[in-house]
Amino acid sequence: MTTLVPLPGHPQIARRDGVLYIENIALDTLAREYGTPLFVYSKQWILDALDAYQRGLSGRDALICYAVKANSTLGVLRVLAQAGCGFDIVSGGELARALAAGADPARVIFSGVGKTRAEMRQALDAGIGCFNVESEAELEVLDAVARQTGRRAPVSLRINPDVDPKTHPYISTGLKGNKFGIAHERALAAYQHAARLPGLEIIGIDCHIGSQITAAAPYLDALDRMLDLIERIEAAGIALRHIDLGGGLGIDYNGETPPSAEVLWQQLLARLDARGFGQRRLLVEPGRSLVGNAGVCLTEVLYTKPGAAKNFCIVDAAMNDLPRPAMYEAFHRIEPVRARAGLAETVYDVVGPICESGDWLGRERALAVHAGDWLAVLSVGAYCMSMASNYNSRPRASEVLVSGAQATLIRRRETLADQLRCESD
Ligand SMILES: *Cc1c(COP(=O)(O)O)cnc(C)c1O
Repeated sequence: MTTLVPLPGHPQIARRDGVLYIENIALDTLAREYGTPLFVYSKQWILDALDAYQRGLSGRDALICYAVKANSTLGVLRVLAQAGCGFDIVSGGELARALAAGADPARVIFSGVGKTRAEMRQALDAGIGCFNVESEAELEVLDAVARQTGRRAPVSLRINPDVDPKTHPYISTGLKGNKFGIAHERALAAYQHAARLPGLEIIGIDCHIGSQITAAAPYLDALDRMLDLIERIEAAGIALRHIDLGGGLGIDYNGETPPSAEVLWQQLLARLDARGFGQRRLLVEPGRSLVGNAGVCLTEVLYTKPGAAKNFCIVDAAMNDLPRPAMYEAFHRIEPVRARAGLAETVYDVVGPICESGDWLGRERALAVHAGDWLAVLSVGAYCMSMASNYNSRPRASEVLVSGAQATLIRRRETLADQLRCESD
């Protein structure tokens, strides 16, 4: 008899007769066919995550702009583009990727504190929907570039609402003293400045308070602060067509219980309605919450190494593939792909081959494994492959997109020739 046990927080990943499956494919089949390290994504999980936003915002004038930096692989972008999603980009490279994946440029918005003139020109030529401007100096440059190209740049100002999202300091972005956005108390002056620049067309206002946020309260606080500001800006005669509340909604890595996008938006819409802004065009910029739990990384156990103080489980994936533990001390669940009956668990630090003590994927994990077994590192759909590097001259991994019982290779493993291609001695 087949027993099917979905993993907590991972409805698309389940154990059947001891083997982990993603949708209808056994993960050991994929590891054997494509090699490791291997990223595997569930298309259904991505579509369900998008659907939660679409349901939450249904009946409203709303645009969901996926934050490309979370996972910028073309095959992932195409799933979202085909489902009608817009895109939030932070570089010319991400613009090129979004367009290559079939994005409608009018549904692309451009965030980031350091846009270059060349990137501004590229985005104006493409006809993107909005620039999220992050400083008064950037307003001047964008105005000049737009006038040179004979266009008006559609702009929104990113305001720093100064609310604490209660997340890791490296991923909190809406507090005073961080590099993002324009200070709340400078906002009105910045809008008045923008309104005097002929190359700019003011269309909205935005904020983005941080990432991996697991409660609704920081969003409601930020919304109230933004609405107070909108009232003052509009009283000064500057109309704002849209309100963009950014991204940042968290996912379940280790038992966190963030509100669903649908529930979060019910609460935000109630507040918008109560304050008379319910008919305003709304934008959101979710990244992690659309792809984070769609992905697993398969890795092979190379060696187990017992030690006096610690036991190490050395695997073939490393911080160049999965940078979040090294960068933020982030937690990822790690599961054996095939459960081993009759082998006692040992507590290991799961580490990669890179020559850095920071190269660990999980600490103090009880696992029953031998060399040659495969492990699945969970919740790796966001901020893993898009941050992957060639450190230690390791090739970047392959990626596979799964839909039902079908697997499609969406990125082949890098070869050594790929790595040497841009260099000359
Ligand atoms: C990173 C980022 C996002 C997406 O954040 P998530 O936490 O992945 O949802 C959205 N907007 C801006 C401006 C960002 O920098």
